[in-house]
Amino acid sequence: ATDFGIKEALQKLGVSDINHGTSTGSNNFGNGDLIESYSPVDGQLIAKVSTTTREDYDKVMDAATSAFKTFRAMPAPQRGEIVRQFGNKLRELKEPLGKLVSYEMGKSLQEGYGEVQEMIDICDFAVGLSRQLNGQTIPSERPGHVMREQWHSLGVVGIISAFNFPVAVWAWNTALAWVCGDTCVWKGSEKAPVCAVACQNIIAGVLKENNLPEGISCIVNGDYKVGEYITTDTRIPLVSATGSTRMGRIVGKTVAERFGKSLLELGGNNAIIITPTADLKVVVPGAVFGAVGTCGQRCTSTRRLIIHESVYDKVRDAIVGAYKQLTIGNPLDESNHIGPLIDKDAVNTYLAAIEKAKAEGGNVLVEGGVLEGEGYESGCYVKPAIIEAENHFEIVQHETFAPILYLMKYSGDVENAIEMQNSVAQGLSSAIMTNEMKEAEKFLSFAGSDCGIANVNIGTSGAEIGGAFGGEKETGGGRESGSDAWKIYMRRQTNTINYSDELPLAQGIKFDL
Ligand code: NAD
Repeated sequence: ATDFGIKEALQKLGVSDINHGTSTGSNNFGNGDLIESYSPVDGQLIAKVSTTTREDYDKVMDAATSAFKTFRAMPAPQRGEIVRQFGNKLRELKEPLGKLVSYEMGKSLQEGYGEVQEMIDICDFAVGLSRQLNGQTIPSERPGHVMREQWHSLGVVGIISAFNFPVAVWAWNTALAWVCGDTCVWKGSEKAPVCAVACQNIIAGVLKENNLPEGISCIVNGDYKVGEYITTDTRIPLVSATGSTRMGRIVGKTVAERFGKSLLELGGNNAIIITPTADLKVVVPGAVFGAVGTCGQRCTSTRRLIIHESVYDKVRDAIVGAYKQLTIGNPLDESNHIGPLIDKDAVNTYLAAIEKAKAEGGNVLVEGGVLEGEGYESGCYVKPAIIEAENHFEIVQHETFAPILYLMKYSGDVENAIEMQNSVAQGLSSAIMTNEMKEAEKFLSFAGSDCGIANVNIGTSGAEIGGAFGGEKETGGGRESGSDAWKIYMRRQTNTINYSDELPLAQGIKFDL
């Protein structure tokens, strides 16, 4: 098999055949079992990574807790300087890291590079933010008094991430947390542990060059059991968890029980509404990339198209036609549009969903199926499917993390389409394709889309880091990345200062002595 430069990439990232999956900066260890990470691209072993035992974990927490005391005392713009250097290292290593993401996760090379670019972008954002962690002054009702609000560093932030964005989700969280003065303990996905090791190697180098304490950035590795060390740990005031709704339900409850804060980024069931005035030149690439990009394994992947009956046939034919041009194969080969699913379990889930949709009365327009033969030896390559379905089908109500697109019709006004799009339990991303200003504004109004992301004339996937990212309902309610998402990584303190010689009480209360 062609190597596509993977060996060289791993070397540049300091990844060996066997790696320590626990790290407190310069100190790498990990005494648990080894995870073997196989690539869904060609089924080959990438590397082994040791998991974190309970004892290992406690060492990590000691390092992260003690580093916090130093780091929070460093002026925020100086912390920003560390993030700037980290961003520059990512620029240098964009190619090998992007390649590793593509090889370990299976997304196209372009998307692998794009993911590293997101890391670079959030670093730039965080550097600027490090001079803008502003509080406000508030007028006091009492004479000779002033009130203000301050933002202080929070502590050790726990980050739990999903396989499908094995590096960017960490960066979205950690770059902001660092400028806020927090230290971070990251448990990446057990399905992409090598990516976490590579990222840790990069930041550990930056911290060392700056003589900063180990523990500002730590990784732990393993499955949900290692995740539970984080979620149950009262030393961790904030847990940011990205993954399935099933996981979020457990994590949210566990963290709430100990009065921790959680930032939940969970599953989506994203729809595009296609109205009579929609421009096909925008609809087709938007819907197709949304449905098949990352092989349908983005939280913002397009799962449903809600098409007005007057343009239904035209839109359906155009989308089905576009699917015929898609090439499926090694994602490191840039002539392919679609790579594999993450593993065979995901393939089985995909196959079962297609069967379920058929059993519920779905009409298959583009057949799915598993690809076999040369180049497809990993058994993880599948054909993207299109199925005509109804919104109330049980299978349509669930997120299947695979390239299955459901087509459905609406009639009458755009309100009917909005009603359908909102009638699912998830609330992450949504879009409308229209040239009718009133329809677009209705979709964006209080009575419109109930999602955290609502777009006009672009698809559901591919968010920029400048906006706050996240969704409502079963998507978990968390927001990370841009806008004022940084506030969750800090604690808010309200101060009232009396510079008069009297002590008037609030609300005019008299208490004479
Ligand atoms: P997953 O829920 O299986 O795992 C996610 C992470 O949670 C992993 O690191 C896993 O080890 C950990 N975990 C699982 N159970 C846990 C528990 N009880 N306690 C602590 N940790 C636990 O998800 P996945 O298959 O890796 O990723 C796919 C899912 O992630 C999809 O539903 C997708 O929509 C979602 N996702 C959401 C976003 C978002 O920003 N909203 C982004 C990416 C992925």
